[in-house]
Amino acid sequence: MQEMREATPEERRQYYSEEWKKDDLPKFFLHTLSLREFAFDHSGKGPNDRYNCFITPEELSDFLRKKAPYAVYGSVALYERPSQRRKWLKSELVFDIDAKDLPIKRCDCTGGNVCEKCLDDARQVAKIIAETLRSELALHDIHFVYSGRGFHIRVTDDSVMSMGQAERSQIVEYVAGIVVPSDMTLTLGYSRVFRKRVARIFEQLDEKKLVDAGFRGRLARKLMREKEKALDAIRRGHLEEIMEFDGIGRKTFRKFLNVVTRLNSELVDGKVTIDTKRILRLPSSLHSTVSRKCMMIRDIDNFSYDATVPRFLLES
Ligand SMILES: [Zn+2]
Repeated sequence: MQEMREATPEERRQYYSEEWKKDDLPKFFLHTLSLREFAFDHSGKGPNDRYNCFITPEELSDFLRKKAPYAVYGSVALYERPSQRRKWLKSELVFDIDAKDLPIKRCDCTGGNVCEKCLDDARQVAKIIAETLRSELALHDIHFVYSGRGFHIRVTDDSVMSMGQAERSQIVEYVAGIVVPSDMTLTLGYSRVFRKRVARIFEQLDEKKLVDAGFRGRLARKLMREKEKALDAIRRGHLEEIMEFDGIGRKTFRKFLNVVTRLNSELVDGKVTIDTKRILRLPSSLHSTVSRKCMMIRDIDNFSYDATVPRFLLES
């Protein structure tokens, strides 16, 4: 993978004058551009230039060429008066999946670093969440964005745009599998989504990871010894059989479910989803910390990280 390093001010200027195009803005964003708040980070210290708005993409384009900001953000909300962040109209439903914050990793990345392995894991998480949004919640206008160090899912169906925080919070719980369902044996709905999420976590766990998550060594060993049998029970729709396994019991099973729901809650940043006034990195803009293009993804299955490398990095 091409090196990830900070872009210089000169490289930022080169990017916005030679590579950035307004056609790289998502259509759903272009159509509502004048209703959005824009925020800029000019120095790398955070997006503290807020309350900006642009009537046309050309105005935005001029601004980007002139200022070559360190980072560019746009609101997920539409406002009648974006420059005051007032008269809220509606907001996209968004999910932020950051490769550096995944609860279980196959790699040794620490701090803010990411590699192709954890990015791929983040991509898989984005895919299963979108699949649940589609099949269980009947949403259709689902867009994937590469954020630089992970993925954003942006949903623009009318039915979700007007939702408030409480409803958005319930959707996060549902798609990530954050609460234990009252009946784990139902064949449809949340019960099934939850079993899928448990199976997914179980597949990725081993004894050490269970201990890291707060399990005592002896119990972790017992549970992992039954891994295949447990996965089989979950896939047959009988998650609760696990507590009948030799030496496991109800208490250990409950503890296991608590660990799973906690790990699931770290799959997405729930704060981002429930915040209807959030700003998100603008697709088409440069993530200067890692020199990657934040961009719309047309085909998530065949997404290539090469496409996210800006020209100046290839030439340097
Ligand atoms: Zn990694």
